[in-house]
Amino acid sequence: MRKDPTLCRECDKPHYLSDDQAGTEREIERLCSTCYVTFPLIERNNKLENNIEMKKRILGTIEDLCSNFLYYDRKEDEDLSPKDLREAVETGIITIDEMVAEFRKHLTNSFYA
Ligand SMILES: [Zn+2]
Repeated sequence: MRKDPTLCRECDKPHYLSDDQAGTEREIERLCSTCYVTFPLIERNNKLENNIEMKKRILGTIEDLCSNFLYYDRKEDEDLSPKDLREAVETGIITIDEMVAEFRKHLTNSFYA
C-alpha cells in the first residue's frame, strides 16, 4: 500500500490506494474506503434533500401565485376585484373545484402536450 497524497472529498481524510486500485471507480471518485461504501447513501440523501427543497420552492411559488390571484393582482383590477371574486365563489357562480380544474388543465397542457 502506498499513501495517496490526495484527500477524500467527503471526509477530507487521506485515502489510501494500492497500485492496483489506480483508475478504479474509488480513485476516480476520490473517496476513502469508508466513504466509498457509504457514498451511494450520502448521494441519495443529498438528492432527497435537494428534492425536498425543490418541492418546497415550487409549492411556495404556487402559494405566491394564489396570493397574487386572490389579492395582489385584484387590488387594482376594475373588472375583477377581490370582492367580486369572493362573491362569485360565495354565490356559486364559480366553485373552487372549477378554478382548480382550470389550473390543472393549463398545467397538464404545458407539461404533457
Ligand atoms: Zn472519506
